[in-house]
Formats: sequence, C-alpha cells, structure tokens
Amino acid sequence: MTPRPLASVSVDLDNLWAYLKTHGDPGWRDRPSFLPSAVPRLLEILGEQGLTTTVFVVGADVVREDGAKAVAEIAAAGHEVANHSFGHEPWLHRYSRERLEDELSRTEAAITAAGAPRPRGFRGPGYSVTRDLVELLAERGYAYDASTLPTWIGPLARAYHNRTAKTSDEGLGELFGGVSRVLAPVHAYRWQTGAGSALVELPVTTMPLLRTPIHGSYLLQLHALSPRLAKAYFRTALRLCLVRGVSPSLLLHPTDVLGAAEAPGMEFFPGMAAPGARKVTWLGWVLSALREHFDVVGTGEYVSRTPLRRTRPVTGLDAGR
Ligand SMILES: [Zn+2]
Repeated sequence: MTPRPLASVSVDLDNLWAYLKTHGDPGWRDRPSFLPSAVPRLLEILGEQGLTTTVFVVGADVVREDGAKAVAEIAAAGHEVANHSFGHEPWLHRYSRERLEDELSRTEAAITAAGAPRPRGFRGPGYSVTRDLVELLAERGYAYDASTLPTWIGPLARAYHNRTAKTSDEGLGELFGGVSRVLAPVHAYRWQTGAGSALVELPVTTMPLLRTPIHGSYLLQLHALSPRLAKAYFRTALRLCLVRGVSPSLLLHPTDVLGAAEAPGMEFFPGMAAPGARKVTWLGWVLSALREHFDVVGTGEYVSRTPLRRTRPVTGLDAGR
C-alpha cells in the first residue's frame, strides 16, 4: 500500500481583543477573551477527528491566566504549540529587528512557562515576511515559518478593511500582503540565509491555479451562501491539490467554531451570523473530507516529515522597515 499524501492543519488562536483592535474598536484595551469557550470546543472537534495539529498562540494571551490554561490544555491534548507573535500587530513588518526579537522571545518564554515545549514554528499576524524575521527565526533555532498566504484575495481584504475599520493605523497600507503575494510559491520551500538553508517556509494553502483561499473562515462564508457550493468548492480544491502534488495546509481560527453571542463586538466579521453549532458541524465535514484523501498532521510534523528541495534566497525579501 502506498502511503497517503500529507496535509497539515493549524489554528491561529486569535483572541476577541485582537479582532477588535484591528477593527479599531477601543474596547480591545480591556482585552476581552473568548478563549475559555473557543479552546475546549476546538480541542473537542479535533479530538473527535483523531487529529493532532498545531496551534499558534499570542504571547499577550499566554502571560494571562486563561491563555496559559489554554496552552496547557492544548499541549496536554498532544498538539504542537507555536508562536503567533506577542502583541498580534499585523504591521510586524514595520518593527525594528530588536522589537521583532522581543516579540519572539517574550512569547517563547510565556509558552514554556505555561508548560509547553519551546516553539519550533512561527506565523506572523499580517501574512508578511521580512528578511529580519527569517534571519531571526533561523538564529533562534526555529524549524519553520508559516506566515505567507499566496493569494490575490489579500488586496481585496485590505480594501474591505479600509472601508470598514473605524481608524486607519499607520502601516495598514501593507496589511494582508501586497499584489506580489499572488506570485509567491504555494509549495513549502527552504529559505537560503547567510547561515545556510534550514528554515522552512510553509505557505497557508490556497486553491491551486486559482489562488483563492481555502482556509476555514473563507469556507464558512461560502457555506453561509450555499452549503452545496461550499462542499463542491472544497472538494475541487482537494482534488486540485492531489493532481498538482500540493500538500494542503488548512488554517483555522476560533471564530470557525464560535457564534455571535460568544464574540460580542464582532458582528462586523464575516460569518458571525451563523450559530456556533452549525459551524462545528460544517468544520467536522471539512476535516472529514480532508482526511479522506490525506494523512493529516500539524505543521511542525509536516515540516519534519517532508524532504524539501525547493529553496528561495532571503535576499529577495524586504529587509524590514
Ligand atoms: Zn492571527
């Protein structure tokens, strides 16, 4: 029997305050959290599917009691805990090298203090990668970065944000990535840094050829329009991945399992009108469909089990700010 191809699933544990902050809602300063309802529900559905995945956590949450508890529960359930920055500011690409290093190290310290192993993976909050970031991750012994989203939806998401946000923060001009993202590779590859080529880049998978998103929140929006359309779309994406030899890396968020009542203030966010129970059922279908064709693992396990020959020079990246 030939082994089945690998796919990976990861969760960005973005908290309620982070969404409100990006949206320009001053209520974010009280740091409202939906982790106590989101984390047990996510762990339950992943457990039902028999999946161990990767959860990217935000340091500012992990230094608090509910975030530390979440990390301990995630690690105890066998999932990989990875670094999703400390402050979850989507304009990370504007940070100085020192500030970027601080974001990484404070989150690493919070994760290990909460009882999980030191993170081997990083995903930035704004889908942007700079040379500073890649070099710092390599220096600090990370195995992979998972910050790129090769899609043309980025500029559209930015247009949407600019239209709906109450404030316009500095740096938002490049939020969600530029048009160059469209040409970024869909496959995983290794960054060639001065120190060699070890750090892996694992893009969030978009539909092969079309480059439209297939992450949980996008599927959920389609599902709200038409469940049949959403199923056909995801099945087509999986088939194209198989045909093109792309290992899908599916990205999920807490909002994929939460209803509007559990995320007060997020009524503006796409897909929040659907009840939590309906979202959980839909996510179960998505994960089952993925498991039909692929062996599903976390992003860290995917990287360690996949021999990667493709490389990309880090010199092609913006240095940072
Ligand atoms: Zn995030």
